[in-house]
Amino acid sequence: MTDLCCCPPEAGNSVCELPAQDFSRPARMRNVCPTCGVKGKPVQGQTVKSLLAVSLRQVRQVEYMFCKQATCTVVYFSLDGEQTFNIEQVRERVYQKEPDNGEAFICYCFRYSVGKLQAASPEVRKEIVDNIKSGIHSGQCACDLRNPQGSCCLGNVYGLIKNLETPADKTNR
Ligand SMILES: [Zn+2]
Repeated sequence: MTDLCCCPPEAGNSVCELPAQDFSRPARMRNVCPTCGVKGKPVQGQTVKSLLAVSLRQVRQVEYMFCKQATCTVVYFSLDGEQTFNIEQVRERVYQKEPDNGEAFICYCFRYSVGKLQAASPEVRKEIVDNIKSGIHSGQCACDLRNPQGSCCLGNVYGLIKNLETPADKTNR
């Protein structure tokens, strides 16, 4: 069907008589972070563009992944493994990278910080969750543009509240 050579360069397509396809980016798609080796989560291009603090000339038309590993400084990496953006290149403190930093937001759309949830009573935490849910239902959130992970924060909020309200002897699993 195609008139192009489909041999990868390492297979020796220089000797093939068909014109070579563009193999400048051999299919080495990896969904693991090149720095920590942990599997990333796909993020939309608009998330990367709105969260980066660097010239968007650096953002390519490729897929980007979010690294949520707390011990790794990489926030976004390209699926081709050729590009990484670290915490200093992101406009917001990233909750996953600084889970104990009270100043980091956990809900970026409605601006609830980790510290706010830490300091709140269980009743106030419920009110915060209700406020976030109500904002979501009113279509007022923009997680893809404000949250570095590019998706809804509620899972993180529930997780943090659970940690805060679990007796200390149960947190060391
Ligand atoms: Zn990483």
